[in-house]
Amino acid sequence: MKTILATIKAGEPLASTPFIDSHGHFGPWPSTHIPYTTDHGRVVGEMDRYGCDMLWMSASEPGFRGDMAVKNDYVFNFAAAHPERIVPYCTLSANDQDRNVEELRRCLDRGPCVGVKMHRYEQPHYSLLDTFMQPILEILSERRLLYMNHDLGNLEELVVVTERYPELTFMCGHFTPGLSDLALKLPNVFHCTCAAIRPDCVADEIKRIGSKSMLVGSDFSLFALAFGIGMVAYADVPETDKQNLLGLNALRILEHTSWFDRSMLKCTHLSGVKP
Ligand SMILES: [Zn+2]
Repeated sequence: MKTILATIKAGEPLASTPFIDSHGHFGPWPSTHIPYTTDHGRVVGEMDRYGCDMLWMSASEPGFRGDMAVKNDYVFNFAAAHPERIVPYCTLSANDQDRNVEELRRCLDRGPCVGVKMHRYEQPHYSLLDTFMQPILEILSERRLLYMNHDLGNLEELVVVTERYPELTFMCGHFTPGLSDLALKLPNVFHCTCAAIRPDCVADEIKRIGSKSMLVGSDFSLFALAFGIGMVAYADVPETDKQNLLGLNALRILEHTSWFDRSMLKCTHLSGVKP
């Protein structure tokens, strides 16, 4: 069987192992120009060319500005049209603290949802221990979903919430080696490779802490899908480590949810794959 790197170099879809990108965005970006930014067919077409089974997508300009319901609906409408390929995050914001719970419940009622995404840009400073955060984390914990933040914040506070909500999975959305050591100790903390742009940093991190706590992420469709898989495919590490980052770790998170089934993976021939 071809290696992951040989498949990528040949420009062929990756079919030998699950490929689940954990960090994408969908919707218009008024602050910059991204062509075809609301085109469903182009996004799914690019996923097909790479053999990307599934993308977990949050809103564009996530939490920075605009009405979160409008921005979430771009993503949830896309997921409704392609339910086995696009799995939405509900994007929330510290700019709208009184409306977050209502918006989360509205999104959860729309269909499968991997969890909540929050960011830090252009909003008041907040902590995972803040009062407005607790009902959000409680709802996610009840459903064993994922809380992803661009920056999970103070690590001591993160330890407190991981103990308070042991059923909830936390993920740092931006590659943060400082978080990795914590992820080693806490089974419900993961981090994303998104923007791991220093040469060899994904391989260096795997050699340092192993491959069980990282998930591939690309910022697709803001950036190209290659921005995620490239840094994993080219890493100088064993195939099994690449498989963990590309999809097997994501499968472990998905299998906590009530709605996931492996038949949803449309690009992978699953025989022989054992997470
Ligand atoms: Zn992002």
